[in-house]
Amino acid sequence: MRQPVGEIKLKGINASPGICIGRAYLVDREGVDIVEKYYIEKKKLQKEIKRFKTAVKKAQDDIRLVIENSPKELQRARILETHVALLTDKMLYGKTIETIEKEGVNAEWALKQVVANLKSLFLSMADSYLKERASDIVHVSDSIMRNLVGAETENIADIDKRVILVASDLSPADTSQINLEKIMGFITDHGGKASHTGIVAQALEIPAVVGLEHATSRIKSENLIIVDGNTGTVIVNPSEKSLVEYEERKILYEDYRAVITRESHLRAETTDGMQLEVMGNIELPEEVVSVKNYGGDGIGLYRTEFQYMNRAIFPGEEELFKKYKDVVEVIAPMPVTIRTLDINGDKAVASRYSHDEANPALGLRSIRYCLKNPDVFITQLRAILRAAAFGNVRILFPMISAYFEICEARKLLDQAAESLAKEGLPYSRDIDIGIMIEVPSAVILADFLAEKVDFFSIGTNDLIQYALAIDRGNRQVAHLYQPLDPAVIRLIKHVADVAKDKGIKVYMCGEMAAKAHHIPLLLGLGMDELSMNPQSIPNIKRVIRSLSLGDARSFLQEVLKKRTARGVFGLVREAYGDILADKAYS
Ligand code: PEP
Ligand code: MG
Repeated sequence: MRQPVGEIKLKGINASPGICIGRAYLVDREGVDIVEKYYIEKKKLQKEIKRFKTAVKKAQDDIRLVIENSPKELQRARILETHVALLTDKMLYGKTIETIEKEGVNAEWALKQVVANLKSLFLSMADSYLKERASDIVHVSDSIMRNLVGAETENIADIDKRVILVASDLSPADTSQINLEKIMGFITDHGGKASHTGIVAQALEIPAVVGLEHATSRIKSENLIIVDGNTGTVIVNPSEKSLVEYEERKILYEDYRAVITRESHLRAETTDGMQLEVMGNIELPEEVVSVKNYGGDGIGLYRTEFQYMNRAIFPGEEELFKKYKDVVEVIAPMPVTIRTLDINGDKAVASRYSHDEANPALGLRSIRYCLKNPDVFITQLRAILRAAAFGNVRILFPMISAYFEICEARKLLDQAAESLAKEGLPYSRDIDIGIMIEVPSAVILADFLAEKVDFFSIGTNDLIQYALAIDRGNRQVAHLYQPLDPAVIRLIKHVADVAKDKGIKVYMCGEMAAKAHHIPLLLGLGMDELSMNPQSIPNIKRVIRSLSLGDARSFLQEVLKKRTARGVFGLVREAYGDILADKAYS
C-alpha cells in the first residue's frame, strides 16, 4: 500500500461528537474471509456439530469475560448481553447446525452461508435500527469463526500508547475494552448512525466517525490524523494550516461543552420569562442517568420497543414492570413518558409474532399491531400502570391515525387497570394520557382527538416522512427530508393551535426539537415541552435562555409567508444567525 502523500480529507458519519488529533493505530479486525467447503461423512456429522457448539460456547465465555471487565457506563448499554443471546439464537445457531446436518458440510462453511443469508435479510429491512443489526450478526459470527479456525485476536485493552483507533469495524466487545487513558477516539469503515459502535462512543464521550468506507486502506498506523466527530470529517496527514485550525476548533468546542454542561441544570427560560421543559428521549432504561446528567427535566419519550427486539419471546409483565419501575424511581419526581410498543412486522422479526410486509412503514405497525394483539398490549399496559405507582408517569400511544384507535386504546387501558384492581396489585391510574401526532390524518383530526387525551406529542421523524412522502431511512431522498418545509410548519401550527384551543398540552419529541436553528420557530409555534437525545439537552436549554418569546412570535409571522424550506432557513439565519452561530453543535 502506498503511503498517503499530503493532506487527505475523508467524509463519514458523525457518530459521537468532539475533536481529537493524534496518531493512528490500525486494528487488525478483518473477519475470516477465506473459508473452504468440504463434505463430512455422515457418521462424523455429530462430531462436527459438537465442534461448532464448542466454538460457540467459547465465544460466549469470551464475551462474558469482557462484560465482567468493562466499565459501568458500557455495561449499561447491555449490548454485549444481546450478543451472548444472539450466539445461540435459532436463526444463527439452529440454522447452522441444520445446514451441517442437511448438507453434510463443515461447520465453517455452514456458518458462512447462514450468516450471508441473515445479513442480506437484515440489510433489506426498511428500519434503519434493524439494518444496523446486520453488523451484530457479523460480529458474533466472526468470534465463532475465529474459534473454529483457531485464529488469534488482537486485544484492544493491551494497547499501551495514546492513539486513535482505525478499524474496518469494531465490535461492541472491542469497544468495551477501550481504555480511556489510551484511546482518544476511533474511526471505522463500516457502521451508521444507529450502530452500536456509535452508541458506545457516545457513552464514553469520545469522538468517533463511522461509515468512512476506505479509512483502513488510506490510513497507516502512526499517520497523524484529525477526527472531527461533530461533522464526520477525518483529515489524514494534516497540513500545518489544518492542524492550527483544528487545534483552535478543539479548544473552542471543549470550552463550549464545559460551559453548557456547567449551566445544564439552569431552567430553560426565555429572556421574557416563558419557561419550557426540556426532556430526554431514551431507548434503554439505563440511559435515564444521562438524561439527569445533561440536565433534562424528565423523560419526554421512552421508546419501549427495544426491549422486545432480538429475542424469540416477548418480555413478560414482571420483566417490563421492573424496568419501568427503575426508570420511574430514578427520575422521580420528574415525569417519564412511556410510549407503548411501536413495532411493526419488521421490528418483531425475531419473534413468533412477526409477519412479512411489503411496506412495513404503512403496515401493521405500532398501535395497529397492539390493538390486533391485545394480549401483548395488555401485558405492557399493566406493567406501565404498576410502575406508575412509584412516581410520575405519563402514557403515550404512538401512530394514532384514526379516532377509534385512541378510544380502543383507552378501553384496553381501563381493562388493564380493572384487572389489576381485581388482583389487588398496587397501581396508579392517575396518569396523563397522550398520543403521538406523526400521521397527517391525526393532524387533521386533532380537534376530535384532543377530547380524548391530556397532551399531544409531535413526532416529526415520522410526520415529515408521511407528510412529504419521504422514507426517513432512504439516502436517495434525504435532501428532501426538510423539517423547515412550509408544509411541515403548517401541520405543526395546526396541532399547536388546536391544543391551545382545547386546553391540552403540546410537546415535540421528534429530532426536529434537538436542532438549535429550529428553536425560535418552535417557541413561536407555542410548544410547551421539547424532548430529544440527552446529549442535545444542554445546548437547547442554552439556546432557549438566549431567546425572547415575543420575538419568536413575530418571527413566526414572517416564516409563515415563506414558500420553501430554503426561504425559511434564510430567514432563520437573517434573524438569529448571530445568536445561533456559537450554538451550532447539537
Ligand atoms: C417520531 O416519529 O418523531 C418519533 C419520535 O418516534 P420514532 O422516531 O421512534 O418513530
Ligand atoms: Mg415515530
